[in-house]
Amino acid sequence: LLQLYAPLNFLGFVYREIKHSLADMEKMFTLMGQSAEVKDTDKAIVLATNSVSIHFKQVDFSYEANRQILHHVDFEIPAGKTVAVVGSSGAGKSTLSRLLYRFYDVSQGCITINGVDLRQLNQVSLRAHIGIVPQDTVLFNDNIYYNIAYGKPDATRDEVIQAAKSAHIYEFIQSLPEGFETLVGERGLKLSGGEKQRVAIARTILKNPPILIFDEATSALDSRTEKAIQAELKEISANRTTLIVAHRLSTVADADEILVMEQGLIIERGRHRDLLELGANYARMWQLQQGDEEIV
Ligand code: ATP
Repeated sequence: LLQLYAPLNFLGFVYREIKHSLADMEKMFTLMGQSAEVKDTDKAIVLATNSVSIHFKQVDFSYEANRQILHHVDFEIPAGKTVAVVGSSGAGKSTLSRLLYRFYDVSQGCITINGVDLRQLNQVSLRAHIGIVPQDTVLFNDNIYYNIAYGKPDATRDEVIQAAKSAHIYEFIQSLPEGFETLVGERGLKLSGGEKQRVAIARTILKNPPILIFDEATSALDSRTEKAIQAELKEISANRTTLIVAHRLSTVADADEILVMEQGLIIERGRHRDLLELGANYARMWQLQQGDEEIV
């Protein structure tokens, strides 16, 4: 009987583990408002490279049949460079990152990685190359250690500690009575927006992906935390092909190219200084935000 019981017990364990991860994955997709609806082709190419260039070629996109969200969006992110997207709410900025992660396929045009259409790539290998620091990080109902180590399941404890240090969240974790073992998520300790983003940054540092997507939080963080997160972003984006969806222009000033979007169209593009000189939309947004910062 014991011989029978042991495997059953093990199966029970496996079942609970799988259920736990599926529930978490489902929750993550639900919270992100996404569904896993794209499929690999039969001969999907496995992406395996450290140097990635990205090209959005005349991309049109609609979530729903009669409402087009993106119109002929065309830009390139050369390997190791940073492109930042700014623009009013609903302009389609986050949609670009969802398409790059291939939550959805484009309606017209294409997105290529090192010249290969995203639709030809094996999804798992594509996603393994991308680190996302989302606007609102979803934490798993588990401890902080698990939430960071998720970026690299076979990471050693030392690597997790190093990642936490690089993301400047180690001291905070150490200050908690249960340290890395502190439960977070819905049933655990509620972390602030800045702390959650740091967990996501640590996770990404551990994953060490060649592509980075940073979706800046819309909700205001206090200005010290905001500056610290921006500095950490600068560190982790160095030498990675990076797409930043920004709400604060101070985040994008160093980008290699800034795209200004309005209703799904790129209406201005260039470097920070060029756009200020142009004296149009970006310059106006900059003026407005300078005013805000003075008030704060
Ligand atoms: P914000 O700065 O407020 O985050 P954004 O520029 O990132 O805005 P997106 O999130 O890309 O905007 O959304 C662009 C448009 O697409 C919006 O009008 C939004 O309502 C719509 N949209 C976003 N997600 C979906 C979805 N899952 N289904 C249908 N429409 C959607």
